[in-house]
Amino acid sequence: MRKKIVAGNWKMNKDIPESENLISELKSKLSNFNSLTEVIICPPFTNLQLASELTKNTIIKVGAQNMYYENSGAFTAEISADMLKSVGCKYVIIGHSERRTIFAETNQLINKKINKAINENLIPIFCIGESLNERETGETEKIIESQIRTGLEKISLNNANELIIAYEPIWAIGTGKTASPEQAEEVHFFIRKLISDIYSAEIAEKIRILYGGSVKPENASSLMSKENIDGALVGGACLKANSFFEIIKAVQ
Ligand code: PEP
Repeated sequence: MRKKIVAGNWKMNKDIPESENLISELKSKLSNFNSLTEVIICPPFTNLQLASELTKNTIIKVGAQNMYYENSGAFTAEISADMLKSVGCKYVIIGHSERRTIFAETNQLINKKINKAINENLIPIFCIGESLNERETGETEKIIESQIRTGLEKISLNNANELIIAYEPIWAIGTGKTASPEQAEEVHFFIRKLISDIYSAEIAEKIRILYGGSVKPENASSLMSKENIDGALVGGACLKANSFFEIIKAVQ
């Protein structure tokens, strides 16, 4: 039985006072809730330390939204794995479609970041997903396969907990359009099979594959009822404690 995960990607939202409010509301909602689900929040870099302090001794874990693969040096505006660990991060989102499309991140760059994160004991939340055009031209599996094969090239896993995969069809992110549970399940099944080919049946059985793309309290439970969907990566709906908490409840 795979433990479910709900991760919130705050993107470029929330200053310090707003972060304090959101975290404290979320903590109070979760305090009387016996969560069997892993809860992760991914605020902007500037709020990571605060988020780690405010969530100490709670079930909420903290992740970053990006990192660079070098240790240190002349890489203006980049953040290293060590820096993330020093502010209490356990997870890091890598390869989000906004990084791929707006900031031109390639599968090769993403591969280096995933490799570095795993070597530094950070758990990557590795995002993959097709565009609307790719879906409409029947290329979804081809795109997913190349993102996974290149993204994970020469990366060995000792166990399935070293990596989380998030399937996020680009056409469903921030658009209000959600993949139907059947559409999502079809791709999740394909991803699990691919992980079995690349690693082993045991790792494929245990690895968590999240769905992301306009997840809301209203659609979360039907998505989660599918066998291969192990949780959600949530954008817009994680910016309010109430909707994020409702999703956590629905997932559970
Ligand atoms: C995301 O950006 O990871 C995401 C899933 O966003 P949204 O929930 O807003 O579609």
